[in-house]
Parts: sequence; C-alpha cells; structure tokens
Amino acid sequence: MSDSREKEVVGAVHPQLFIGGQWRDAEGGRTFAVEDPSNGATLVEVADASVADGKAALDAAVAAQTDWAATPPRDRGEILRKAFEIITERADELALLMTLEMGKPIKEAKAEIAYGSEFFRWFSEEAVRISGRYSVAPNGATRLLTLKQPVGPCLMITPWNFPLAMGTRKIGPAIAAGCTMVVKPAALTPLSMLRLADILTEAGLPDGVLNIVTTTSTGKVMEPLIRDPRLRKLTFTGSTEVGRTLVEQSAEGLLRVSMELGGNAPFLVFDDADIDRAVEGAMLAKMRNIGEACTAANRFIVHEAVAEEFGTKLTEKMQALSVGRGTEDDIDVGPLVEAKQRDKVAELVDDAVGKGATVLTGGSAPEGEGYYYSPTVLSDVPLEARLAKEEIFGPVAPIFTFTEEADALRMANDTEFGLVAYAFTSDLSRAVRIYEGLETGMVGLNQGIVSNPAAPFGGVKASGFGREGGAEGIEEYLETKYVGIAL
Ligand code: NAP
Repeated sequence: MSDSREKEVVGAVHPQLFIGGQWRDAEGGRTFAVEDPSNGATLVEVADASVADGKAALDAAVAAQTDWAATPPRDRGEILRKAFEIITERADELALLMTLEMGKPIKEAKAEIAYGSEFFRWFSEEAVRISGRYSVAPNGATRLLTLKQPVGPCLMITPWNFPLAMGTRKIGPAIAAGCTMVVKPAALTPLSMLRLADILTEAGLPDGVLNIVTTTSTGKVMEPLIRDPRLRKLTFTGSTEVGRTLVEQSAEGLLRVSMELGGNAPFLVFDDADIDRAVEGAMLAKMRNIGEACTAANRFIVHEAVAEEFGTKLTEKMQALSVGRGTEDDIDVGPLVEAKQRDKVAELVDDAVGKGATVLTGGSAPEGEGYYYSPTVLSDVPLEARLAKEEIFGPVAPIFTFTEEADALRMANDTEFGLVAYAFTSDLSRAVRIYEGLETGMVGLNQGIVSNPAAPFGGVKASGFGREGGAEGIEEYLETKYVGIAL
C-alpha cells in the first residue's frame, strides 16, 4: 500500500468533534495523537474533548430527540440503507483506515466493514417493523393498547478492537428506533467512527441525531453525561472493570443500560469430534482480529484422547500464519494495539510456562518495531495459570485436557465470564446437553464464529446484559407504553 494512499485516507477524516451536525475543535484547541501500532508513528491529532464539549454533544442530542422520534420509520430506515450502501462502496478506503489505526490485517478490516455495515442493513429493515399489541382485558371492560416508543437520548461508549462494528451495532438500532445519541469511540481508534459520521450525514441523517466526542479525559467527560437526567440510556462495550463503574454511575438516573463486557470463551473438543473441523473452527475462534476479540477462544478444553492430534494440527496452522504490518498483502497477524497489550500477553504466557505449560509454537514477541506477538500454542496448561481466568486478547491458544464430559462442562463454566462458548462434537445428544449446560449468552456448535447481525449478541454473568443484533437488538432502544382504554 502506498504511503500517499495512506495519507489520503487519513486526510479524509475530520479529526474534530461532531456536534449538532457541525465539525468543531475541542475547547482550548486541545488534541491527542492517534498512532499506527505497526510502527508507533502518529497518524493524526484528534480533538480532545473537555467536560463542556461533552455536555454540548448531549445538548445537541437532546435538542434533536423530539423531531427525530417523529420522523417516519421508513425515512429512518432509508438513511440506514443508504449508509450501508455508501460503506459498501467505500469498503477499501474504510478498511485501510481501520488497519492504520488498529493494526488488524486488511482482510480482517474488510471483514469488519462487511460485518459492521450489515447492522445498518439489518436495522434499516427493522425500523419499519416496530409494532405493538391490542387486546381485550379479561373482564371485557377495557381495551389494552401496548405501543413502543424510542427510549430517548443515548450515550454509546465503544472499545478499540472493532472500531466500526461496535459502533454500528448500537447506532443502527438507535437510528431505527428513533433515538438520538452521543458516541464516544475508544481514544486508540476514533478515526473509523469519525469517518462514519460523514457517511451518515451524506445518507441524510439530520443534524444532532448522531454526535461524536473523542477524548482522553474519558471518565471526567463521560460521568457528567451519565448522571445528566436528560440522558435515558447508556450502552457500553468494553472491559468488565469499566462496565461495573458505569453501572454504578448509571444507578443515579436509573438509566436503561446495556453492557457488552469481557469474555473468557471455552472451546470444547470432544473425542467424537471431527478434529480437522475443530481445528478450522479453532483458528477462527482464536485468530479472528489477532485474538483481540471478546469472543476469542481463551481456553481450549480438549478430550485427552484427541489432545495431541488437535495440538499438532493447530500448531501447524498457527505456524503457517504470516505476521506483519496489516497493510501488506497476505498478512494474517498484525501487531497488537499497543505496547501494554503486547506486554500483558507476554506476561500471561510466561506465567503459564512458569507453571508447567509446554510451548508448541511461538511463546515470545519478535524483535523489531511494532507491538507484535508470535502466534502461540501451549499444551499441558495447568488450571492455576492466570490465562485460565484472565482474558488473553492476543494470538495465544492454551490447551487444557479433560476425561469426562461432566468435567469439561464444569471447567468451561468455571469463570466469572459468560459471553460465548464453542463446542465440537458429532453426538447430537451430547451437543444438546452441552449447549443447555453452558453458562453463556451464545454458543458456537461445530463452528468457530457466532457474530451475526441477525442474531442476538450478548453475554451473562460478568460478560454483561442486553443484546445487540437480531430481533432483540432494537428492543434495547424502545420503551413499552401501555394505554388502558375505557369503553
Ligand atoms: P475499556 O478499557 O473498558 O474501554 C472501552 C471504552 O470505555 C473506551 O471507549 C474507553 O475510553 C472507555 N472508558 C474507559 N474508562 C472509562 C470510564 N471511566 N468512563 C467511561 N468510559 C470509559 O475496554 P477496551 O480495552 O477498549 O476493550 C477491550 C474490552 O472490551 C475487552 O474486555 C473485550 O472483551 C471487551 N469487548 C466486549 C465486547 C462484547 O460485545 N461483549 C466486544 C468487544 C470488546 P478510552 O479509549 O479513552 O480508554
């Protein structure tokens, strides 16, 4: 990819705050640097919002709410549909921008553009299907009318690992439902979201419906918004630790809250599984997004009779991956997002090895610039290793073994998290026992990927609550009102 093309793509972004349909500088002209994780170079300086800027964004969302809620559903849906089409046309440009700010290989970025834009297509269709109910009260004396109305102004806080899709799966249903919003993308990767604001404007989104605030004073700028009585909903995707704080803050205003938090996905392989298929699934579940996904398989729990075969085949696949700057052709594994993330992955691997795990491949960070970590497979990992409990968020596959089905299920559920689990088996009865017994919001049965705009994405336990996508996704942005009608 040429340097001039990269400059052109970054240069197309407005590195400012987007408030009430206007691009503007942060108070005092403050900015912060967004860097390319493949070499640490600054891509662009972006507006660094103050508390007053954050409040201005909420003011704009509140001012636009009434008119937006009254906009015909078909019009709201058409805006989403148009935005979906523009994103699709500009997929190459948007993918390059995403790779530059986040590091993921260009093919992964394209996959995210396709996945993220699908939420706009899906919710463009849902916008015109919001309906209620009419019934006769049991005593026949009154009529019961149930209707759905937009929740009202929303605050959306998103993480760096999917810079576009984590936004579109909130923005899509909010637009469809008739809610206005303030979006706060991650400081590490705000560029995709800023570019999306231009696309939605081009698609006809009225001023004030979408407002974007970028900041490094995150807690200070967000807390007053969460405590502002005009805000009606908080939706957050990020770590469990931050999610807990935000739930506490949202208690004051008794906000509607959705929390998409961390994961620690178990990946179960039974001795009756098709091992080649399980390995294919493992590569997807582990290596999508360089392992920096909440859905990433964190613990491979493999029957002892097939553990060696599974480990050998997985190692071969991991060794075949090419590591390098995501913009280069045919790269499978880009850099991790920042030095801190790479160091955490290294620490978890060192801890596991120190406690007795065997390195089948990888196990270290390559020399040179950029925050790379080599694709790694560990076998014989003891349950005391930190990575049995903590989210790895990197290209590391630890293999644990089991003998009895009941032990596999117990090990899978032995975590505070409950986002997703994967299970590979060819025994139907076992499959039913396993997916019913797993304490997670989602299960991938004989498949290594679950994300789908037409399905309800979300977790249980410390992975949060609320669902994004599917028929459930729009409900998060709707209130139910009941009218009792006297005869
Ligand atoms: P994070 O540190 O929790 O940050 C997520 C977002 O919250 C960022 O925009 C961050 O802003 C903001 N934030 C941080 N502290 C805040 C505060 N005190 N008040 C308000 N906002 C605050 O998480 P991350 O490292 O970006 O993302 C990785 C985590 O997200 C992983 O745990 C992963 O599992 C989870 N995740 C979950 C899902 C899901 O759907 N369940 C999907 C993707 C990722 P700054 O950028 O300024 O810090």
